[in-house]
Amino acid sequence: MPKVKILSPDVISKIAAGEVVERPASAVKELFENALDAGATRVEVHLKDGGKSLILVKDNGSGIDRVDLDTIFTRHATSKIANAADLEALLSLGFRGEALYSIGAVSEVTVRTRTEGAKEGWELFLRGGARERVAPAAVASRGTEIKVEEIFFNTPARKKFLKSDSAEFDQTLNIFVPYALFFPSYHLTLTHNGRTVYDLAPAQSFAERAAKALNLNAQHIIEAEDSFPQDKIAVKLVLGDINIQRPRRDLQYLFVNGRPVQSRNLLFQINDIYRLIMPEGVHPFFAVFITLPPEDVDVNIHPTKREVRVRQESRLGGLLRGAVERALMTKGGAKEVAANDVFTFEPSGSGSNSAPARNFGVPADRIVFAPGQKGAAASIGRPAAQYWMAPTGYRRDDLPIQPPAVESGVNFGDMYQIPGMSSAAKAGESGHLVRVPERLARARFVGTFVKKYHLFEEGDALFVIDQHAAQERVVFEKFLRQIEAGKVEVQHLLTPVLIKATPQEMLAWESSEDKLKSFGFETTQLDEGTLALQTAPTLISNPEQAVRALLGEESLARADKESVARRACRASVMAGDKMSQVEAAQQLKELLSCKDPFTCPHGRPVFIEIKSSFLDRQFLRT
Ligand code: ADP
Ligand code: MG
Repeated sequence: MPKVKILSPDVISKIAAGEVVERPASAVKELFENALDAGATRVEVHLKDGGKSLILVKDNGSGIDRVDLDTIFTRHATSKIANAADLEALLSLGFRGEALYSIGAVSEVTVRTRTEGAKEGWELFLRGGARERVAPAAVASRGTEIKVEEIFFNTPARKKFLKSDSAEFDQTLNIFVPYALFFPSYHLTLTHNGRTVYDLAPAQSFAERAAKALNLNAQHIIEAEDSFPQDKIAVKLVLGDINIQRPRRDLQYLFVNGRPVQSRNLLFQINDIYRLIMPEGVHPFFAVFITLPPEDVDVNIHPTKREVRVRQESRLGGLLRGAVERALMTKGGAKEVAANDVFTFEPSGSGSNSAPARNFGVPADRIVFAPGQKGAAASIGRPAAQYWMAPTGYRRDDLPIQPPAVESGVNFGDMYQIPGMSSAAKAGESGHLVRVPERLARARFVGTFVKKYHLFEEGDALFVIDQHAAQERVVFEKFLRQIEAGKVEVQHLLTPVLIKATPQEMLAWESSEDKLKSFGFETTQLDEGTLALQTAPTLISNPEQAVRALLGEESLARADKESVARRACRASVMAGDKMSQVEAAQQLKELLSCKDPFTCPHGRPVFIEIKSSFLDRQFLRT
């Protein structure tokens, strides 16, 4: 009896079909998921040249019956669903019967397979979708091996579009790693050009697997489970504690019913809870596995199945917040201070008593604007109102901050100015034009506010300076000048800082070691997953985070000086401690000597101006 059937036209019409193979990694994804669907507990993935010349996926799953070999490369041939009702309660990763068909059409495929109890195995060879050979073959044990060679050989346009081998391989890592996290008890292997990148033996726990797969310290990973029977929701949490800090949100994984998915909203909710323990500017590791009744999840909305729709997402978000908070508060470890932690920052937000005021109920992206104060709100551009009205839960990362779109002649009102973005010159008290930097230069220090803002007064204006943004600007310009002069001032570290790197970061490091060095970060490889940082630019206060930020993007090898400086600074300058009057004045002086004192290197304003007439209006004095 064949297991594989061709779906009927009415089912086909209900399927969100589309391209499934656009690059080697998409083929890896489909083959890997097929192996998992076949009940495999051991899966090997081998790639050559980023997958461009070879992708081989070998599993110990069910194997494929001889009779089904005749149909599996046909479009809409699947053993996983039979009718439209099955779509409502999917338990398998695949269901469209399109992957093998699409892969077969654009490559040379060899299948070797054997089912349980079969006398012999079978080999099938296809080229460009045309079957060229089926024959009995010696296959040692139950399972399937699918070899894809010369992908896109007959679609040169598609082939030309592919990126470098390492960039393509990087995409495969993005497929492989989440599944490695989700199946800790499976033996999973990944090689590239004959080199073993992962050989993950079955692990005892999710934490152990995550530590191995991401090169983290297992002691810093918390595991917890929670269930909400009323909502038929269960969650499994694998959470990094405060000791795992990343400059980007690159180690955050979300699964719904065993499928890696993306959800901005759910990720936001979890990151938001982490703000309770995490300093500003760094991000946690977490892998969150959510189980919902299949009928509450719709995976049939996008061809790559990467997006899912969940019924009652906001309810789920709320439950998730609670579960994560409970786990972190009851099981989370304290910050460890390593002996050689010379450069570890202690930003003001890290202590529990100095944690910023937060507004749990209201996500920061749903900001309510000021009630239209007589005329005031109406006369200012919306972006300005956004800055101004940021509620207690405001954090710089959450707001979609772009420089306000100010056209010349637009009236910002007298409440608020982003100097330099409107006009660099303004009328001074005496009526003639005085440039803002000159006015700032003679401003008087008034005080600091919530350890974040310096207040200066000048004439009828109050200048509010974002201490952190100012620092970023100052360090960025100094660092860039050093880079451009080819003289980066470095510090030799007494004991090298050891950086545990993920395979992805290692990959980036291999192609950019020299580049890092030219920017003052001298690194050597200590072992497979560890870099030793020997020197660091004196300007950069947290070189480990800076190196990570630099390795975090694929294109470091080609990046220009300015973007390198920008990236290094972003990770490295932290919101400072309370500054004294002298320090604040010194910072202002350095800021004013910058080429562009108006914005931080990432485009946020460094200072704003509030005029007394605005306050007068608020107090109904006009
Ligand atoms: P789908 O996964 O959506 O069913 P595919 O084109 O990926 O569609 O695969 C077609 C069929 O081939 C599957 O339904 C399954 O029966 C069979 N198959 C593919 N890969 C394997 C494998 N590694 N082991 C066993 N059967 C497989
Ligand atoms: Mg499939």
